[in-house]
Order: sequence, then C-alpha cells, then structure tokens
Amino acid sequence: MLKGKQKEILLRGTPISHGIAIGKLAIFYHEQESIPEREIPESEIRQELKRYDKALKGTKKDLQRLKKLLEMDRSHEAAAIIDTHLQLLDDPVLVVEVREKIRQSRKNADYVFHCFLHEYQQRFDEIQDLFFRERGCDLLDISRRVLEHLGGSERASLTSMPPNTIVFSDTIAASDVAEADLQNISAIISHDGSPTTHAAIVAKAKGIPYIANVSSELIEEAIGTEVVVDARSGDIILDPTKKTLTKYRKVQEKITSSFQELEKICSLQAETYDGYKINLMANIEMVNEIERMHQYGGAGVGLFRSEYIYLAKQRFPSEEEQFVIYSQIVNAMRGLPIVIRTFDVGGDKLTVEEKATHKGNPYLGCRAIRFLLQKPDIFRAQIRAILRASERGNVSIMFPMVTDLTELIEAKELIEEVQNELSHSGKIIEKRVRIGCMIEVPSAAMISDHLAKECDFIAIGTNDLVQYLLAVDRSNQEVNKLYTPTHPALIRMIKLIVGQAGEYGVPVSVCGELAGDPRFTPLLIGLGVSELSVSLRNLPLIKKVIRNTSVVRCHQLVEQIEVLSSPGDIQDLLNQEFHALFPEECDRILINS
Ligand code: PEP
Ligand code: MG
Repeated sequence: MLKGKQKEILLRGTPISHGIAIGKLAIFYHEQESIPEREIPESEIRQELKRYDKALKGTKKDLQRLKKLLEMDRSHEAAAIIDTHLQLLDDPVLVVEVREKIRQSRKNADYVFHCFLHEYQQRFDEIQDLFFRERGCDLLDISRRVLEHLGGSERASLTSMPPNTIVFSDTIAASDVAEADLQNISAIISHDGSPTTHAAIVAKAKGIPYIANVSSELIEEAIGTEVVVDARSGDIILDPTKKTLTKYRKVQEKITSSFQELEKICSLQAETYDGYKINLMANIEMVNEIERMHQYGGAGVGLFRSEYIYLAKQRFPSEEEQFVIYSQIVNAMRGLPIVIRTFDVGGDKLTVEEKATHKGNPYLGCRAIRFLLQKPDIFRAQIRAILRASERGNVSIMFPMVTDLTELIEAKELIEEVQNELSHSGKIIEKRVRIGCMIEVPSAAMISDHLAKECDFIAIGTNDLVQYLLAVDRSNQEVNKLYTPTHPALIRMIKLIVGQAGEYGVPVSVCGELAGDPRFTPLLIGLGVSELSVSLRNLPLIKKVIRNTSVVRCHQLVEQIEVLSSPGDIQDLLNQEFHALFPEECDRILINS
C-alpha cells in the first residue's frame, strides 16, 4: 500500500465483539523461534526434569494470577477459560508423557516439549474440526508460556503494546485477550476465528471490539499505520482518508454522547406515550453483564444463554458447578426475573461428540432440546441446578428449538420429576418456576396454540426462525443476503404465533437480534408482542423508541406493512420511519437512508 496516495482499502470480516476503534495497527506474532536441540548427559537428566516441573509450576502460577484478575473484573467466563488451561497443565500427557520423553531421548526439556506439542497440534489441525482446532489453540497458548519459563523463547504479549493499538494476528489466543487492557488494545483483528472460540468469549467479556476472518494479505502492509475498525459491521478501513477518519471520530463521539443521553432514560418505564407497557428485558451470556442490565434499567433477563458455561469450559459442568453459577446469577438479579434457557448446544455451538463424529448439517441435527432429551443425565443435572438456584429468586426455565409438542411435554415431565426428587430430599421448598417454550422452527410456529396450552410463556427466537423459515444458514457468508428478517413470511408468522398464544392468555416475547433492532420495535409492538429481550448494548435505545411511539402508530405501521410483498420494500419502510423519527441514532445502527 502506498502511503500518501490516500486510496483507502476496505476489508470485511466477521464482527465478533462490537464497537468502533481508530488506532495504530500492530502485528502480533505467535511464531516460535526454533528451539535448539541439546544432548543431556545421563547425570543431568534429573536436573532437566526438575527444570521442566518448575516451568509447569511457573506457568500455573501465571495463569492462577490471571484468573484471579479476571474474577476481580467479574469476567467469570474468561476466568473459566483460563481454568480449562490450568486443567490442561495437569493433563498426564503434559506431565507424565513429556517427562518420559525427556528421560528416553536425553534431550533438553524445551526441545522435547516443543516437538511433542508441535506433533500434537498437527494432529489436531488434521482433524479440521472447530473443537479440535480450539483445543490446539489452547495447547499452543499454554506451550508459549511453558517455553518462556524454560527460557527457550520470549513469549509475545499484548501487555507490552503501546496505548491505542489495534492488533492483527493469525490466530489470537484466549489468554492473550485475557491479558489485554482496553487502554492499550483498542481492537483485535484475526485471520482465523469464530464467535464461539475461547478468544471470542473473552473479548466479549472484556468489551474489546473484535473482527475475525480477515485476510492477512493487505493488512500486513498496513502495519504501523492508522486504521479504522468498525466491529458493528465487520469493516476495516486501511489507509483511511482524512474524511473517513473525521467521519468515524464523529460517529464515535455521537455514539458516546447519544449513549450518555440515552442513559438518562434508563430509569424510566419502557412504555409507549399512550401508556402501553412493554416488558423490556436483556439477553445475556456472561454473569458480568447483569450489572449493566441493572444500570440500563432492564426489567430482567429474558434469555440467559446457558450454553456459554459449556463453551467456556469445553465440557458439561457438574450439577454443583452449575448450581454455584446459577446462584451467583440469581443473586445478582436482586429479585428481578431471569429466564435460563437450557443448553442450546449443536448448530454453531457444537458438542464434543458431535464434532468428533460429524454427522451432516449440525443445524438440522441433534441440537438443543433434542440433544438434552437424548442425554437425560446432562439434562437432569442442569434442571436440578437451576431448580436449586431458583429458590433464591425469580427464575424461569425455557427450552430451545422445540419442534414438536411431545418434546415440550417430555421436558416438562423431567422438570416435574426433578422437582419431586428435590422437594422430597428437602433441597427445594417451593415449586415456583415458570416454563417457557422457544419458537425457532416453523413447525413450532404452526402449532403455537398447542405449545401455548402447555407452557407459561412463549419466546420467539428470530435468529433461528429466519434461518429455518427461509432455508438460509445464518453463519454462511455466501447466502447472507438472503437472510432477510423483513421477509413477509416472518411477519405473518409472528402475527400467527401471537394470535394463537393469545387464545390461551400466554404472553409472547421476541428474543432474537431483531428485538434489539430499533427499526423493528414499532412493528413488533403492533403485532402484539408484549416483551422484548434484547442485546444489552441496544437496551437503552429500544427503550427510547418505545417511549417515543404509540400503539396507534404501531398498528398503522403493521397495516402498511401487511400489503407489501417484498422484503426490500418492508425494509425501506422501516428505515424511513426510523430515520424520520430518530435521525440522531442512525449511526449506531448503520442506517444511511
Ligand atoms: C434465536 O435463535 O433467536 C435465539 C435467541 O437463540 P440463539 O441466537 O442463541 O440461537
Ligand atoms: Mg436460537
């Protein structure tokens, strides 16, 4: 890239953790220098083994310190990930096998360890599978620390980066992100990565903007120059013109000031100006988000994605582990309601077994409630933990991806059985959880009256419903354009669900991303949705939109939309309406019209 030519280059990746950053681009290498091979005389082998043990211990100490810092920062999920690294350090493969290899080969510990891990990682890479790649990343992450303790190589660290740095790396390791300080690291860009990697979970927990799946070719030429990262859209602008920089600085300022403005309405009711109350809740994945839910004046948590506990640990946590986590969460709610969704594993959140066996399309496979009904031990442990924690507050349980009434009935029967067990053994006193059913699949939408009869509330998961209704894989970039939540079929379907559930007096919420898109707020209210559960960052804006609209206008809008047949026309109408009412908020959600 030629400097001074001022021809900016736009790259696009997958937005993982939202935010905007302007900063100097730096590369972050993980490459290990070659480790020298040395013969160790028989008489010094014991000494060499001691050196290896000491390196493992030193690494453990570092990670324990990092885990404590994360816990103090209330980044519990990030701390859980560091905990998995600590467990790997106790793995017999690292402890016993490497020691044995040092003894047999009579080579220096750093060389043996490096070769051993290299071989291991190659095997993981060959499996070409997300889970094993993630395991490989964890091992590499640890190995860099162990080698540093062995004195074999100096580990690169994000802690030494100057303020306002945007880092690019081929792969970014979870513990690197865990160490990063937002003061210095304004954003992260990586070549590999997905929303469910350990690094992604940590970046979200720490609020560091992060874009993955970015080609390294052009980026490497831009090292040392100022770049713009827009992790709302996944855009990276290299060699930005003065005009672009000014634009993004203004957007940053506007977002900050409009957010400060919005914060003023956080303590007010989520109510239309003609007096219709909406239950405005938050979607959360991490425990440390609950405090922000309170700050933003949320009425509670409408969706806690419990599978993030699994993703952070890479294994199903025991009943006791889950009980501790759910109790922490319920306590942090301070009496406000929380809906805990049972593990939604499968789809893009693959289980260990599914990854190992790879059976067809995971979105159409053994996912969510299907998985749990096939694994009663895992399901039972989760339900027991939730019910025990429910004694401390206002807890509901919700099932993901129900496609058939029998699934809901079976799941309810399991809850009843567990409730009886727990009350007989004196572990719970009252049976007071509400039960909810998600509608994320067209078959469930069509039988929402049957489902409503069997539950206390219904939550429409539009992220999946759009995917299954339109036959578009939500994570496949190639068909992204066809993923249109403004499709008239979806609007008709929401209307149908609200009507059918209404016959049984069952309230309907929407908890997909669409609920957090302010353009859809009047439409959803007009369709009769009484609760919105939204990503935290959107909560204040949605409250503002609710407070500035009327039910009368919402019904009019539905009438106008119902005669439109094209998703594009519906989108244009929603954009125009939003632009006319809230021009100052358009930057936040990227509306240009
Ligand atoms: C949804 O599908 O809309 C939903 C809320 O669930 P998730 O995004 O976790 O699949
Ligand atoms: Mg879903």
